[in-house]
Amino acid sequence: MKRAEDLEVRGQTVLVRADLNVPLGAGAITDDGRIRASLPTLRDLLARGAAVIVCAHLGRPTGDGYAARAAGGPSLRPVADRLAELLGQPVTLADDVAGESARVIADTMDAGEVALLENVRFEPAETSKDDEVRGELAGRLAALADVYVGDGFGAMHRKHASVYDAPLLLPHAAGQLVLAEVAVLRQLTTGPARPYVVVLGGAKVSDKLAVIGNLVGSASPDPTTPRSASPHPTTPPKADRLLIAGGMAYTFLAAQGHRVGDSMLQADQIPQVTAVLADAARAGVELVLPVDHVVADRFAADARPEVVPGPDIPDGTMGLDIGPATIDLFGRKLADAKTVFWNGPPGVFEFPAFGAGTRAVAEAISAVTGLTVVGGGDSAAAVRHLDLPADAFTHISTGGGASLEYLEGRELPGLAALEDGT
Ligand code: ADP
Ligand code: MG
Repeated sequence: MKRAEDLEVRGQTVLVRADLNVPLGAGAITDDGRIRASLPTLRDLLARGAAVIVCAHLGRPTGDGYAARAAGGPSLRPVADRLAELLGQPVTLADDVAGESARVIADTMDAGEVALLENVRFEPAETSKDDEVRGELAGRLAALADVYVGDGFGAMHRKHASVYDAPLLLPHAAGQLVLAEVAVLRQLTTGPARPYVVVLGGAKVSDKLAVIGNLVGSASPDPTTPRSASPHPTTPPKADRLLIAGGMAYTFLAAQGHRVGDSMLQADQIPQVTAVLADAARAGVELVLPVDHVVADRFAADARPEVVPGPDIPDGTMGLDIGPATIDLFGRKLADAKTVFWNGPPGVFEFPAFGAGTRAVAEAISAVTGLTVVGGGDSAAAVRHLDLPADAFTHISTGGGASLEYLEGRELPGLAALEDGT
């Protein structure tokens, strides 16, 4: 893969696909980690005399056509403002993605200037399954610039126009963030030092069954998973231990016959989860589930937390965090780890009363000497708010789905496009 740092960019206009998909609360950015992570590539290109046009998505615009989506938002306005503050220079926000406004800006930009296109998902073509539809948008994007730099790691698993099709139309290279992310994930997929412990939490088990299947050595749980063209090992190494918490744990507990009350449960996934439990046992992968819980009678920040000893959750209550015995247990299971990957908070950390499990897991992992990687939008935001030392983890990945698919051994379309040709 060609590096953006090796491109001659003086006097050129560079289109950078970045991942600026930050969490918003009441229209304000609640965690700017992804904007910060995209700065090194932008600064380098600007310092070397490029005009830089940044393309990114934000949230999930809905609506039938461009006009409806643009009217409904979210606009990248707050992101443009924050990016300007962090770069210490003005950032011109186009009124559209690749229309008249973007064209005028591209034609009149000078070296060292930055512009940001509006939310690329205002264009329904961005996420289209139809190659021609995506190709038309990619053509308009490519026409804005001389060179393409892919640096939006968190979107690399999407076969989208700005991620996959646009780089095929221009000379292209990978940005610093993408190269750093891939370097770390490659260490996880090629002979991790053992014990290799994986902690998975978050919400839905269905999102993460494929990666769990790989970590416990199941045969591919998704027969459509492409593996052959993958640039990295197609069968990722098994974990030695898998610690499962968060919303997904209740489907595992239900599969073992425990009561889960009103906790998050995906009953339709119980057969798959049962198969994973059997695969783990067969492969000798230790699968560790919560042994106690913090529950409440409703899903709310001001709900009263109550510790429930034992794995069963009483009727009329829901599990919102792991309990103290589980915190101890997970701490012991992490103590001798040499490699750790963590995705998904073990509790509803957004509510402070249910954040103790997330803090404890973060602290236990930060005490590990070895490679420690945190991946996932919510997980990364959660740990950044804990005020742990800057070197608490080897790497905080900006990618959630992208890192999981990489660990599954799948080819990421965005990476494949950057590897293609020159
Ligand atoms: P990431 O973005 O790091 O990949 P996910 O998106 O999978 O993580 O999951 C994050 C969400 O999981 C958080 O919003 C958190 O509140 C939620 N979560 C964690 N534990 C529970 C639980 N016990 N019940 C419901 N939701 C939970
Ligand atoms: Mg998430």
